Amino acid sequence: MEIIKEINKNILAKDICFIPTMGALHKGHVSLIKEGKQSSLPVIVSIFVNEMQFNDKEDFNNYPKPIEEDIKVLENFNVDYLFIPENDYVYPKNNFEKVSSGELGKQFEGSSRPGHFDGVLTVVNRFFELIRPKIAIFGKKDAQQLFLINEMVVNKKYEIEIIASPTIRESSGLALSSRNSLLTNRGKDKAALLYKVLKSTKKDFYSTGKTNFLENFSSNYLDEEIDIDYLEILDLATFSKPAENTEEFIILIAAYIENLRLIDNIDFKLEGK
Ligand code: AMP
Repeated sequence: MEIIKEINKNILAKDICFIPTMGALHKGHVSLIKEGKQSSLPVIVSIFVNEMQFNDKEDFNNYPKPIEEDIKVLENFNVDYLFIPENDYVYPKNNFEKVSSGELGKQFEGSSRPGHFDGVLTVVNRFFELIRPKIAIFGKKDAQQLFLINEMVVNKKYEIEIIASPTIRESSGLALSSRNSLLTNRGKDKAALLYKVLKSTKKDFYSTGKTNFLENFSSNYLDEEIDIDYLEILDLATFSKPAENTEEFIILIAAYIENLRLIDNIDFKLEGK
C-alpha cells in the first residue's frame, strides 16, 4: 500500500475506486473496502477528519484517531492507496468551492447539526475534483449524506458511479460507528435499542399505516434513557414525506446516548410484509 498526502499523475491516469473515511476503521468500513476490491479497480481510501463538517468542536477534538491501527487494517485488505491529506491541501487558502446542501441539508440530521452537510458535500466534492474516481463507495448507514451526495453527482454531472453499501451491525443490532468506541458497555446496550425502535416502527407502520411515530415511542424509550432527537419515515427516492405512490421507505432515527449522537436507519419496499 502506498501512503500519499497528495494525488499524483499516476493516480489520475487510472480508473480508480474511492472510499472516503474519517478513520477509526471498523467492520463497516471494511465492508466498503471489500466491495471496492470487487470492482477490480485499484482502491484508494482517504482518512481525513473534516473539521468543516463538525458543528461541535468538542466532537471534533474527541473523534478517535488511531492512525497506526488503521494502516494495519488497510494493509490487511490490500488497499492500493491510503490518502491522508493535510488540511491546506484539501482547502487551499479558501480557494475551493463551498457546496451548499440546500433545504434538505437543514432537515433531520442537518436540523440538529447546522452546516454539517455543507461540510460533507464540500469535502466530498473536493475529493472528487482531486481524485476523479470512476467509482465511489458510501455506507447506507449515513442515509441523508448518501442521498445528498447522489444529488450532487447528478447536479454537477459527475461521471462517477456511486455505490451504496449496506449497514454492518453488531449482533445486538447496533450499527457500527467510530463513535461507538466512546460508549461504555451500558451505553452500547442502550444504543442497541435504536435498531429495535426502527424495527418496531416498521412493524407499526405496516399494521397501522401511521407515519408519525415519535409520540408513540418516545415515552417508552425515554425510560431506557435514550434521548430520541427524531424518528421519521420518508420516501427513500425523494427523502421527503411518503406519498401515495411511494414504493421504497426509509425510517431514520437519531438519539443521544451518554452525550454521543448516534444515527441509524432501515429501508424497505412495501411488498413482502
Ligand atoms: P466515516 O468514517 O464515519 O465518515 O464513514 C466512512 C464511510 O463508511 C461512510 O460512507 C459511512 O456511511 C460508512 N459507514 C460507517 N459506518 C458504517 C456501517 N456500520 N456499515 C456500513 N458502512 C458504514
